[in-house]
Amino acid sequence: MENRAALVAPHFDRELIARYDVNAPRYTSYPTALHFRDDFSETDLFDCIRASNDDPIPRDLSTYIHVPFCLSPCFYCGCARIITHDRRKADTYLTRLYREIEQVAARFDRDRRLAQLHFGGGTPNFLDISQMLELIESLGRHFSFSRDAGREFGIELDPRFCDGEYARQVAEAGINRVSIGVQDFDPAVQQAVNRIQSVEETADVMQGARKGGVRSINLDLIYGLPKQTPEGFERTLEQVIALKPDRIAAYGYAHLPERFKAQRQIDKYDLPGASTRLTLLQSCVSMLTAAGYVHIGVDHFALPGDDLAQALVNGTLQRNFQGYSTHAACDLIGFGMSAISRIGKGFSQNAKDLPGYYMALDNGRLPVARGRLLSEDDLLRADLIQQLMCGGVLDIPAFEARHPVEFARYFRQSLARLQPLVDDGLVTCSSQRIETTARGQLLLRNIAQCFDAYIEGSDNRYSRAV
Ligand code: SF4
Repeated sequence: MENRAALVAPHFDRELIARYDVNAPRYTSYPTALHFRDDFSETDLFDCIRASNDDPIPRDLSTYIHVPFCLSPCFYCGCARIITHDRRKADTYLTRLYREIEQVAARFDRDRRLAQLHFGGGTPNFLDISQMLELIESLGRHFSFSRDAGREFGIELDPRFCDGEYARQVAEAGINRVSIGVQDFDPAVQQAVNRIQSVEETADVMQGARKGGVRSINLDLIYGLPKQTPEGFERTLEQVIALKPDRIAAYGYAHLPERFKAQRQIDKYDLPGASTRLTLLQSCVSMLTAAGYVHIGVDHFALPGDDLAQALVNGTLQRNFQGYSTHAACDLIGFGMSAISRIGKGFSQNAKDLPGYYMALDNGRLPVARGRLLSEDDLLRADLIQQLMCGGVLDIPAFEARHPVEFARYFRQSLARLQPLVDDGLVTCSSQRIETTARGQLLLRNIAQCFDAYIEGSDNRYSRAV
């Protein structure tokens, strides 16, 4: 990444943010998963793995493990999850997960280091502590865990269904990052979204994680939820700041009941209006920056001493499916229902339903359902969008040195799309450099979107044909 000389605090301009409030992708990948295709096969995945092993300097590995079960439905949820109280389902799932891990791990050269590990869901702590510890141990048998102190081994924990002791034990097993969903502590909001979670439960899990040696704790918030008010949300922000997490993510709620069934439980008349939503976001930005948090990009904030803030300063910040990360590009292996892998020049996604995931593995196949082989155009745009999302700067001569294109000519239409954003003062653009301003810091997605070839009117000539 290009080095951002100084940490620019975002400038909150209500009028601009309201005007640019369009549905831009979050760019945790490029192209986004919407563009994966059904004709990507297990053979394509094996080819990607073989090619990645054959790289002169093979990349480190990263794994994502999806645990799809949840004990209770949150009404705002848009995740791939299954609500159940039947804990025996964990054993059935783990049998297939171990089969998948064994088959995939055997295809990677054993000397490739596993530098990143993340358990997400659903609810990873649907697994009881012995199941979770056994899973971590098994991954350690199939992959060469990095011994580097900078390795990122993370887990999402739900404090309603685990305690500090669970967090302490996973930390002692090697987990060094914990992410906890809070969303809002206001009882009226918690009632409206069916997620009742106290400050004390949350603090208990945080304490346990710290006792076990976790070096970074993230709390997730959501603004735009039903029954949210500026006063209530400010109280939540005060409570969250008092808990002193190392990182805070504040996501905007997108109400899409036609796509996500759970959201049909939300009364749309309880949702805050556009102006209140802006006030909620403004409170996030002003209160978190006043409390000393650095804006990392999009919806993420971190304390200056946290690895993420350091990576932003050093120009080593990365973006992946979990949001932001400090690790240089790894080959990502996704395990479990609906999990996505990015290996070399290919994306691969597992079956999104449990029967499809189980059936493939029971028949001796991997549960690959779709994916995409990346074109040269995809690869260079992925690099460009990564630069903009991670620090907001693109060094054009350095980009041209990495890719055989004449920047101004190749991106003629993208640059034309960027011009109104330049005119609005979100970004500056010269023949040498594209650089986000303080006004554009909260609108990185809109800036990156100008270079997305899958948006109508793009200058891409061949990406769609691949
Ligand atoms: S928000 Fe998280 S805990 Fe709640 S239902 Fe969705 S995946 Fe489960």
